[in-house]
Amino acid sequence: MQAAQCLSATQFVLFGSSGDLSWRLVVPALFNLFLDGHLPTRFLLLAVDRSDKSEDEIALHYHQGITENSRRGAPPEDAWQSFSGMIRHVKLNVADQEDFQKLALTLNTIDTAWDCKAERVFYLATPPSLFEPITLSLGAAGLAQDRERVRLVVEKPLGNDLESFRKINDVLCRVFEERQLFRIDHFLGKETVQNILAMRFANPIFEPIWNRRYVDHVVITVAETLGVEKRGSYYEQTGALRDMVQNHLLQLLCLVAMEPPVVYDADDVRGKKVDVLHALRPIPPDAVDKFAARGQYAEGWIRGEKRMAYRNEPNVDPRSNTETYAALKLYVDNWRWQDVPFYLRTGKGLTAKVSEISIRFRDVPHRAFPASAGLNAQPTRLVIQMHPEQGIVLKFMAKEPGSQLRLRPVDMRFSYNEAFQIDIPAAYETLLWDVMAGDATFFMRTDQVEAAWKLVMPVLDAWAANPAADFPNYVAGSWGPESADLLVASDGNSWLTPTLAKS
Ligand code: NDP
Repeated sequence: MQAAQCLSATQFVLFGSSGDLSWRLVVPALFNLFLDGHLPTRFLLLAVDRSDKSEDEIALHYHQGITENSRRGAPPEDAWQSFSGMIRHVKLNVADQEDFQKLALTLNTIDTAWDCKAERVFYLATPPSLFEPITLSLGAAGLAQDRERVRLVVEKPLGNDLESFRKINDVLCRVFEERQLFRIDHFLGKETVQNILAMRFANPIFEPIWNRRYVDHVVITVAETLGVEKRGSYYEQTGALRDMVQNHLLQLLCLVAMEPPVVYDADDVRGKKVDVLHALRPIPPDAVDKFAARGQYAEGWIRGEKRMAYRNEPNVDPRSNTETYAALKLYVDNWRWQDVPFYLRTGKGLTAKVSEISIRFRDVPHRAFPASAGLNAQPTRLVIQMHPEQGIVLKFMAKEPGSQLRLRPVDMRFSYNEAFQIDIPAAYETLLWDVMAGDATFFMRTDQVEAAWKLVMPVLDAWAANPAADFPNYVAGSWGPESADLLVASDGNSWLTPTLAKS
């Protein structure tokens, strides 16, 4: 979100407005933007779905959604009355072109009443199978034409592999120009993730050591304790590599590894990130096991609660080969990072819910202290914490007070909450504001998504062709399968224990 910028009149057209995403994330985020005074005075939320619900029913539904899901809880009555007055409902059959003509008429009539040409955001919170027909119909109704004012937002997953991504994306790009397309990766809306750029490029002290000379390796962990809950059918078609690594974890890697942008804008920042994706060493199809590990959770215990095995979850094949854990070892082949391993891991049913990036620095070149002092009890690490803590920790060695020379690991901490003392906006708030302001810096461009799919395809193909013989291979409540430990142990390393994992 850029500072001190006012939005123009906006029509926010929400397809799939009766769905979970709209209810849980999109509308609560819009309401918080409203509470913070970030929505323009002339704002319309047009809820589009196939239901016959009245506007009162829809408003009540969203009121509940905000109460249950907003960081601020139940809406204050006055503010709710004003906000709900901006909500309209349109019933639309996505297969009926006439309905899109009517939609165009509705939006144009509001423009006339407002006496201006409003910005238009079409947000597709629908199953991906509808992206293509909705986009084509918007185009046919002339609703994509205004290249300056109209934007289209699409959710993940954009395809299930490189080929299906290209197919969907070709349709998006046929109707809209790239600058109108906002492909959401909600990780990029998190304050702590955006702060990686601030930390690296607004301070002179990190860049000199941010390279192969000082960094030994990087570990990116996004761990969940939850299983697949009610999303078994979706997850069976997806798995951890597609669901998390292809998008979120690779984006985190890009932010850590990218070169400094010349200017902080959508083209330059995304260009520098795509350079990283292009520099990633391709995973050889015949040696996937040396660079990737997969796992699936068996029954176990997490914080005193029994978790059933993945294969016993609802809507999951009892002989499923879907991975609930994925780890990759990657190398960025360029001057800055040559031969520095980047280890990525993510999984469900793990010990703790934790997201963090650990930069592990090289050991001291010469050990002047006697072994008895305890040098190297802890390597120097910079940890960027995204969850549950939000902040940065520098872990290093210090002298223990006393006459004996003893070295002890200590932490230096920056906490977002303590430093800023504000309720941190949800990722969707930041991202929706950016869409309305037309700032695509933290959205995925075609070349980024394509490069990310290209990277993971050899692994997806190898895993599909060779079902895992050892599934399930990790106990729910553990840190994942042994094969993931071996992946890093082959370099003499181990997964770094997350800093604030509450076991
Ligand atoms: P839901 O199934 O809860 O909602 C989908 C919406 O699309 C509903 O409004 C539904 O209408 C409508 N819809 C479904 N089929 C049709 C159809 N044939 N014609 C017209 N409308 C239809 O899905 P979610 O809200 O969970 O997800 C929406 C999108 O967001 C998906 O692409 C998903 O992958 C993505 N996403 C979701 C996340 C989440 O947390 N929920 C997180 C990240 C991405 P109706 O109510 O009438 O069925």
